[in-house]
Amino acid sequence: MGLRFVFLGPPGVGKGTYASRAGPILGIPQISTGDIFRAEVKSGSELGNKVKGIMEAGGLVPDEIVIDVLKKRLEQDDAKKGFILDGFPRTIPQAEALDKITTIDMVLNIDLPEDILIEKISARRVCKNCGEIYNVADINREGIHMPAMPPKVEGKCDKCGGELYQRPDDKVEVIKERLVAYNKQTAPLIDYYRKRGILVDFKPTAGPDEMVPKIVELLKKHGS
Ligand SMILES: [Zn+2]
Repeated sequence: MGLRFVFLGPPGVGKGTYASRAGPILGIPQISTGDIFRAEVKSGSELGNKVKGIMEAGGLVPDEIVIDVLKKRLEQDDAKKGFILDGFPRTIPQAEALDKITTIDMVLNIDLPEDILIEKISARRVCKNCGEIYNVADINREGIHMPAMPPKVEGKCDKCGGELYQRPDDKVEVIKERLVAYNKQTAPLIDYYRKRGILVDFKPTAGPDEMVPKIVELLKKHGS
């Protein structure tokens, strides 16, 4: 038993935000394979150069490379107590490969209605410099109230002053494609983990300040 978690959910549901806030409270790292690869590309490492072309072309890094990188990451000291995987696995074969390198204690299935996801993602702004995420849409309907999280100065990062931009894959037409891909490839993981009895459903109804404590409670209850 331990604190080994997977956060599952469609693009824009807030997995990354929740993982980055819940992790430190529990003393476990948030591990995003996407972030690892982006950092490798930026550093110009051998691995980075290998995956750069694939990522720039919008392709997927092959599973064997992802699993290899993840295995090494999970062996690091800070992940001994546990971790939150965010953005992985995305497919059944990846989940099966993950089962071979570690045991997952609980999968948190985070979900929101599709119209809210689309509005939320298209309102996302990211710092070009440090990657901090902002949201300029105030959503209040269907029993869900997610306040905007705008920067203090429009277009500028609060943390580092960097320029904010909309990632190309956060534009509405691309979001719709990402949601189709999610429903096809990743949603089957819900059944995969539910059958194992380790899936817990979570529907956010408010912003991270209110949701993170609830998520931490669930992780404590179902982990360790
Ligand atoms: Zn920044």
